[in-house]
Amino acid sequence: MNVLYVVGLGPGGSRWMTWEARAALEQAEVLCGYTVYLDLIRGEFPDKEYFSTPMTQEIERCRAALERARSGRTTALVCSGDAGVYGMAGPVLELAPHFPEVEIQVVPGVTAALAGAAVLGAPLMHDFAVLSLSDLLTPWKVIRRRLELAAQGDFVLCLYNPSSRRRRDHLRMACDIVLAHRGPETVCGWVRNAGRAQEEHQVLTLGELREAQVDMFTTVFIGSAATRRIGDRMVTPRGYEL
Ligand code: SAH
Repeated sequence: MNVLYVVGLGPGGSRWMTWEARAALEQAEVLCGYTVYLDLIRGEFPDKEYFSTPMTQEIERCRAALERARSGRTTALVCSGDAGVYGMAGPVLELAPHFPEVEIQVVPGVTAALAGAAVLGAPLMHDFAVLSLSDLLTPWKVIRRRLELAAQGDFVLCLYNPSSRRRRDHLRMACDIVLAHRGPETVCGWVRNAGRAQEEHQVLTLGELREAQVDMFTTVFIGSAATRRIGDRMVTPRGYEL
């Protein structure tokens, strides 16, 4: 059987990669993915054949990986974080009926929400909602409604794609929606480049977050009413009496 692994690398190359992901990369003859992610692993797997595509050609990348696998070469398509969280696992499985010869194995990875949470402390100890602020594939109206409802539900919010080159004001608009339901002192945090050499983070208030400049390498956390700052960590209490 021709195998295509769809592999989540974790947030920062080899550091937070699972054993299973590493095993899949070792098995594969061809490694496909976005150039930046391939560069994170190239040093460790120098003898593989590499096939990279620019950021915006996701479907081409999936198709190319499926074609490589169909031609009989064990292939891995790599994504950052987890392949099934705003990654390539979905589109690959949607295209899969056109490639019945290919067996697809999805290998999970540490997603940015979990890597970022560990850097900040323990913000996701209680119920949380993950949202992407990117309106490339989802209308802003839908994003706004989900933010609204998650804010009403007092979930801790974890925001992917908080900014893009095209739209810089998404995070400010998201904060305004949440500010209708939570105070400006609500504990928040952001983590940039989690698990990578240039990692940075900050714990701040919702009022401050509204004014913050974040980029597309950042994941943002907005606390619930119960979330506290303990020293320099962001912690949502589990609910135990201490
Ligand atoms: N599949 C990825 C998410 C892809 S969407 C995952 O599971 O993590 C891209 C968004 O993920 C970025 O805009 C950012 O919000 C987040 N992200 C990915 N890697 C990150 C990292 N190392 N540090 C912080 N945020 C990251």
